[in-house]
Parts: sequence; structure tokens; C-alpha cells
Amino acid sequence: MAQPSPDDPVVRCRNVTRSYTRGQQRSRWLNRTHRSEQPTVTALEDVSLEVSPGEILGIKGPSGSGKSTLLHLLGALDTPTSGTISITGQSISDLSQNQRARLRLDSIGIVFQRFHLLSALPAVSNVALPLVERGVSKSKRRNRASEALHRVGLGERQSHTPGELSGGEQQRVAIARALVTSPDVLIADEPTGELDTATGDRILTLFEDAADDDTAIVIASHDDPTLAIADRVVNLRDGNRIDA
Ligand code: ADP
Repeated sequence: MAQPSPDDPVVRCRNVTRSYTRGQQRSRWLNRTHRSEQPTVTALEDVSLEVSPGEILGIKGPSGSGKSTLLHLLGALDTPTSGTISITGQSISDLSQNQRARLRLDSIGIVFQRFHLLSALPAVSNVALPLVERGVSKSKRRNRASEALHRVGLGERQSHTPGELSGGEQQRVAIARALVTSPDVLIADEPTGELDTATGDRILTLFEDAADDDTAIVIASHDDPTLAIADRVVNLRDGNRIDA
């Protein structure tokens, strides 16, 4: 069998459709579940794309166009209704929930618009969390988390809790947490959405640095300056690629 080359796409998404069933819970509550009568909504339809190591892919589209659905799939948080998604060569539909959790831990970093940090913990402990799940020893965790915070320019803020940090600093902590495991893929949902322009620019530089380190990056955004760092942009409308 051919060995994977370092330039092979890390993310491959082939003819992916994701549909949701609407009204299912309500019908159950009323004890009237008629599956065939439940309307389905197709959030994503027949989307194909690839992302290679070191490449930045932008995902653009208005609200409701399917960006979050696509990011959830690319982050192995969800599986497609049809089509295939492979991350580092593994088809996520073939994996159990536990195996998908392991794939996320080993290969994927995720950055959300609203940071999702634990407010009671200092920055260094927030960044170290994925390493706890990986079973890394306490002293190594602290060293690696500290190093990741230095990389995002927060070496002096390690003992601050999120409430003691600005929005831009919190997002840098979230990026350090996503990068601390050296993931193959970094996925970001509107990572600059809540930040002023100068702070947003600083965050974008961190994504470019991660791409220089060969991480494949997917950024969904409404914001053209954010998408300007992308090598390619996929445009979504009503769940379809309109640039393909
Ligand atoms: P975006 O991130 O671009 O705003 P989404 O991926 O959140 O778009 O949503 C795409 C479409 O799928 C929308 O019509 C949305 O209402 C629908 N949708 C998303 N999640 C669900 C769900 N869990 N159940 C039903 N419909 C959903």
C-alpha cells in the first residue's frame, strides 16, 4: 500500500450531506412519533473539499448557510448523513464515539468564538486541560502549557484567570489550548468575531504561525479581513458550495 505523503490532504470531505430531523422531540413528547411525516432540513448538501498540511481554508457564508454544521463534521464532533469525511486518513463514520473522541484529542484543535474557558482555572491550567485527558504527567503538562502560552505572547499571564484577562487575551489562551497538543488540524468558528480590529489581527497572525508549522487550518467567518489570510475560500449558501 502507498505510504501517505506529508503533502496529502489532512482533511478530505467527499459529497457530504448532513440532514436534521425537525420536530422529533416534540412528537415524542406528545407520544406521536411519525418518522415518515417529520420534515427534515438539509443543513449541508453534497459538499466536497480538501485541506493540506500548512494550508488555511476559509469558509464563508451568511447565517444559516451550514458553516457550523460543516465545522462540527470537520472537527469529528458529528458524522455525515451521507458522503465521507476523512481526517488524517481515517473515515469518521467508521469510528465509534470513543474512537472519534480519541481522534479529536490526538489530531484536532478547536477554537470557538466565545473562548469556552473554565473561569475558575488560571490560564496555564486551561491550556493544560487536553493534556490531562491525554494522561501527560503534571510537570510535563505545566511545561508544555507554559510554552504554548509563551508562543501566543502570554508568558507573563499564566496565573491569571479568564476574568482577569481581556477578550483578546482569552482568545489567545483558547488558541494556546487548541495548539498545545500540536494538532494536525485546527478548526476555528468566527475566532475574531468578538474582538476589535487590532486584537483580531494579532489572533490571525497566530493562525498563520500555526500554518507555518504545517497545521491544516479551517476558519469560518463572515469577516473579509479574517478570510484574507486564507489560501482558499469555500463559499456556502443554503448548505451548498456556490464556488464549486
Ligand atoms: P451557520 O453556521 O452558517 O449559521 P448552521 O450550520 O448552524 O449555519 O445551520 C444550517 C441550517 O441547518 C440552518 O437552517 C439551521 O436552522 C439548520 N440546523 C442546524 N442545526 C440543526 C439541528 N440540530 N436541528 C435542526 N436544524 C438544524
